[in-house]
Amino acid sequence: MHPYYAIHTAIRDWYAIHGRHDLPWRQTHDPYRIYLSEIMLQQTQVGTVLERFYFPFLERFPTLADVATAPEEAVLKAWEGLGYYTRARNLHATAQKTQGTLPQTSTELEQLPGIGRSTAAAIACFAYGEAVPILDANVRRVLYRFFRRRTAKAPELWRMAERLFDPEHPYEYNQAMMDIGATVCTPKSPRCSECPLSAQCRGQAHPERYPAPRRCTTRPIRRRTFWIYTDGERYAIHKKESRLLGGLYGFVQSEVEIVGALLGEVVQHYSHFSLNATVVLSDEQPEESVELLTLAEIDTLPLSRVDRKVLEMVSSHQKNAIKNGIEYFESSNGYNKF
Ligand code: SF4
Repeated sequence: MHPYYAIHTAIRDWYAIHGRHDLPWRQTHDPYRIYLSEIMLQQTQVGTVLERFYFPFLERFPTLADVATAPEEAVLKAWEGLGYYTRARNLHATAQKTQGTLPQTSTELEQLPGIGRSTAAAIACFAYGEAVPILDANVRRVLYRFFRRRTAKAPELWRMAERLFDPEHPYEYNQAMMDIGATVCTPKSPRCSECPLSAQCRGQAHPERYPAPRRCTTRPIRRRTFWIYTDGERYAIHKKESRLLGGLYGFVQSEVEIVGALLGEVVQHYSHFSLNATVVLSDEQPEESVELLTLAEIDTLPLSRVDRKVLEMVSSHQKNAIKNGIEYFESSNGYNKF
């Protein structure tokens, strides 16, 4: 008998009553829908994915084959607002590489762009019933506490995941472990008295000690200027090439001060830095290669969150200028009347 047989039974019983069975990706065995949910949930909360992104994306791309045949730009546009756009680029690359049909084993899935071991295991387990454990952030926290470990490197964490895993009921076990981490063994106030692992959990006397808190680092601030150039009707926009936002469009950013009319300020927090930027309207064209498009045309492009904020700011100033009958620039030196 498995050494954690009693815990496995308790986990299954708990899941039958308390599991989040109504999540749409749990009501299907379609590997694409499961894969999409796993990718979206990697850095985004369940509520946000459910309310704003999962269904609209599926409406736009009902199958992985639809993703494969679409241009990357269309996939990025459907991903707009979710952030971490590498996920969307990898989804597109995986769709093209597999020609819209995902392989069925975790080993093969793990070879695809953007699919790590835990995501591969989740797709293989939930879509095809493969008996492999998963190790997302919630499951990791449960394991740290259950085995009373403050720190552990990835190979050791995987060994812990395999030790506790229920190979007889992989689907229920994996789903339950994610739910226990998300709803019972929460980071700040775990409810051990309601937890199905409590009979053998070694960390429950002081769960807050496990895992060791990560060192608090303050995000550096990057100061930039959004350089809004207009010829009066169209605006300068360019395709980004950075690793973070590659494939998206955006207004030109400058590290040096730009002469022009200050439209406002925007702040955006990224995982490793915060962007504090001023938005300046200038009649001097940026040197880098740009396209000139109307605001309506720019609105149809995939934009990062901060560029979407800037677009809204520029649109609102344009509307005010039209309403008040004011020209953007009244003199050749570029200062305007906002
Ligand atoms: S008993 Fe408490 S600390 Fe242990 S896994 Fe359950 S909620 Fe977490």
